Amino acid sequence: MSLQFKSTRGDKTLITASQAIVKGISEDGGLYVPCEIPKIDFNLEKILEMNYRELAYEVLKLIISDFTEEELKCCINSAYDEKFDTDLIAPLKSAADEYFLELFHGRTLAFKDIALSILPYLLKTSAKKNGVDDKIVILTATSGDTGKAALEGFADVDGTKIIVFFPEEGVSPVQKMQMVTQTGKNTCVAGIKGNFDDAQTAVKQIFTDNELAAELKSKGYVFSSANSINIGRLAPQIVYYFYAYAQMVKNGSIKFGDKINFTVPTGNFGDILAGFYAKEMGLPVNKLICASNDNKVLYDFFKTGVYNTNREFVVTASPSMDILISSNLERLLYHISESAETTKTLMDELKSDKKYSFKVSSDYITGEYATQEETFMGIKEVYEKSGYVMDTHTAVAYASYKKYKKETNDNTQNVIVSTASPYKFAKDVCRAIDSKYDNLNPFKALDVLSEIWKEKIPVQISGIDKREILHKTVIEKSEIKNFVRNYLK
Ligand SMILES: *Cc1c(COP(=O)(O)O)cnc(C)c1O
Repeated sequence: MSLQFKSTRGDKTLITASQAIVKGISEDGGLYVPCEIPKIDFNLEKILEMNYRELAYEVLKLIISDFTEEELKCCINSAYDEKFDTDLIAPLKSAADEYFLELFHGRTLAFKDIALSILPYLLKTSAKKNGVDDKIVILTATSGDTGKAALEGFADVDGTKIIVFFPEEGVSPVQKMQMVTQTGKNTCVAGIKGNFDDAQTAVKQIFTDNELAAELKSKGYVFSSANSINIGRLAPQIVYYFYAYAQMVKNGSIKFGDKINFTVPTGNFGDILAGFYAKEMGLPVNKLICASNDNKVLYDFFKTGVYNTNREFVVTASPSMDILISSNLERLLYHISESAETTKTLMDELKSDKKYSFKVSSDYITGEYATQEETFMGIKEVYEKSGYVMDTHTAVAYASYKKYKKETNDNTQNVIVSTASPYKFAKDVCRAIDSKYDNLNPFKALDVLSEIWKEKIPVQISGIDKREILHKTVIEKSEIKNFVRNYLK
């Protein structure tokens, strides 16, 4: 029988992976989780011989288990092709005595591409399997990178429309240009006056608004999500933890069977949660280190057991991590507490009091954080030592890992999950390397970075400032629902 999924908040309905992919979020507001985390059913050593696509199949077949072999392989092969600028898809690089798992070789230069290049295929196949012939409307809240990656994934995909909301003041200039210049008949992008949490909360409310759902259903639309609340977004991210492990064995850093650490720059907690699933599925992982920027809600939570969003929201140079309400933490709470009742109580408290208490053992995840200054120093240090350039998010993980290592003396081999190309955040990266670039124009910074790093500007963003702006709407956060309604009229 195929793996079943259920809500984190107590709704007893069991559904298959393909149904969960179409629905995105449960009607009770909970997120779908597997009833049981599957164990890898093959000799792990086999992963050493597999390419990315083969490995993706072995991992995904255990989770999206109601797809046939042919369906799943077709999704995987359509996603992980020349869209990536390396056939390795997720290469492991070594620089300044550290290992970086580069997840930014896709179309939009951020790790979101790994999941969002396969999600449209998973979704279309899921809809077909379940006899859904309504048009699927992908509603997406973005802190900068998801929006563009989802737009690229879904642009001109038949039977879908995609609407993206981004914080007008909260994304990098390159991120913004990437989104507002998006082509495709079925794409819609709007800036909102508010931050990512505002956008995500509004979008989650729309998903659970039965009245609106009924109204749109009568017009032939159903909603789904491209955010990591969708299990179809999360599952493909588990693959690269296995792939990183295989590369660490192959390059001789570890022996097969040794445990390794991963340090993950974290925002909505999707990336690191995939690492948690990889570990539970049987990958030899010692620690998962959750790295935060100045919005260090998660760091405080893992240290003290109190998740408290009553605090100032800081706009940082790592905007994709500027998040106070990390949606996927709900899934971790569910798996650890093994109780939908507990999870629901905590989520209700979060809504009413903006905080809750729950202690997560560091056996599962350890929190660290890096200030903006520490992050910038990290970029400079790695560049000076090795010539390698990290983006501002990866640098949060690097600086956090350095602190973790100093505090714990843990000498386990570590992989830093590298989530974006430095070109996406070129201005801040240049400033970190030399303060003479403090007032650099953000688009000129692409050329400057290219000179510093001696690497060509990726074609995905070269000349981005000269492209035509196609999406100019900016709305109040309170208008999101009406905007969606009007757009779908
Ligand atoms: C989205 C993103 C993150 C955070 O990942 P989560 O899954 O939201 O925790 C980190 N870095 C970059 C560059 C991102 O785009």
